[in-house]
Amino acid sequence: MTSQETILSYISERQERLTQIAQEIWDRPQVALQETFASALLARELEEAGFELEWGVGQMPTAFVASWGEGSPIIGFLGEYDALPGLSQRVSVEIDPIEEGGPGHGCGHNLFGTACAASVMALKAAMERENLKGTIRFYGCPAEETLVGKTYMARAGAFDDLDAALSWHPGDANIALNGSSLAMNSFRVNFYGTASHAGGAPELGRSALDGVMLMDVGVNYLREHVMQEARIHSVVTSGGQAPNVVPAYAQVWYFVRAPHREQVDEIYARVLDIAKGAALMSGTSHEIDFVTGCYDVLPNDTLADLLLEKMQAVDDMRFTDEERAFAKALQATFPEGSVGRAFEEMKKSTPIDLTDRDLHDPLWERVLPHSATPPLGGGSTEVGDVSWITPTGQLSTCCWPLGTPGHSWQTVASSGSSIGTKGMLFAAKGMALAGLDLLTKPELLARARAEFSEAKKGKEYVTPLPEHTLPR
Ligand SMILES: [Zn+2]
Repeated sequence: MTSQETILSYISERQERLTQIAQEIWDRPQVALQETFASALLARELEEAGFELEWGVGQMPTAFVASWGEGSPIIGFLGEYDALPGLSQRVSVEIDPIEEGGPGHGCGHNLFGTACAASVMALKAAMERENLKGTIRFYGCPAEETLVGKTYMARAGAFDDLDAALSWHPGDANIALNGSSLAMNSFRVNFYGTASHAGGAPELGRSALDGVMLMDVGVNYLREHVMQEARIHSVVTSGGQAPNVVPAYAQVWYFVRAPHREQVDEIYARVLDIAKGAALMSGTSHEIDFVTGCYDVLPNDTLADLLLEKMQAVDDMRFTDEERAFAKALQATFPEGSVGRAFEEMKKSTPIDLTDRDLHDPLWERVLPHSATPPLGGGSTEVGDVSWITPTGQLSTCCWPLGTPGHSWQTVASSGSSIGTKGMLFAAKGMALAGLDLLTKPELLARARAEFSEAKKGKEYVTPLPEHTLPR
């Protein structure tokens, strides 16, 4: 049996157990930094398979690293397992929460962590059989949804000695990801004023809410004078409690995003000036509470091409008529235009001609080659931080019907179904085979690393986190 065959049969033989793990995590969704169940389950599985555990990485109790092997190269697999608040949902084609207002796996991270764990365990089986040298690691990364996990793990140096990292994300097509995402800062601004009777003694009061509102006005004027691709969004998290009390306290929470880290830094500095101005105008004081920040993803074509090649080699994803019918029914509940929009996006992501038949197929089984210049997404991920520390490759597989809105009840439903687990097993195989090549073909790894060094253009990763911030 070749190493490739060892890997593929390892995953195939354990598909029931792997499906069960993903299902158990789906059944027990836990939001960012509270993933005690998922992290313990995956860690136990890896420990039983012979991996050594290190807990509490980056000062987060639900973060861990599971390692096996010796010496170099060191290849890391980034697994996530946090859920989203308010998305509790059964595997159903109509809204049907299991727990009203409870959390749900609206980003498929129940599949995400499990696939990466499957990859390293399969890889270990092949390494043992062939006596292969090197170290493989599963990174149990909590709190991706709040963009906290990997940023804090990165600050703790958890990825520093990696030769390369591999990861994936559930999606609606089988494709290697070679695009980028936006760098981001997340921060809250607290305004402190003076309370007074809003009718009886308004002249004695200084409204913290005025600070928030003036800041909002300032930021809206700023929008005209930042780059087109920047994104600035906010919510007022506290604005006082009654109109007849001048609010002594108010808070606004901002995300500032842009294609590159230094662009975020530049816009962020201007937003801080606006906060100062707003405080001055309203006669209040203010304080910045930095929550987290992350980098844009630095793509690595060598790794994207490798992942594509491995997915093409596996190419065993097949859905049943029943799964197709479920997917079609789910699609019928999407906001109007979702499927068409996803189809148009996919056309930009792959050079092959997609036809009307593809548009009407709810589940895309085939492997799509990626375009040389993919579109830039509007979201952010702290995989970006890892990608500036070590060459990082990502793939995506069909776990959801085409056009499934992100972070929706429909995503939860599909991630809890056999559609999701088929996508998960496919991803596990592709990543494990890619990992095997990185361990056994030094020239390939050298190429990925040379591309990485060049793409950084002399910039080195510096944590976006201020020194004393803690993960939360
Ligand atoms: Zn996600």
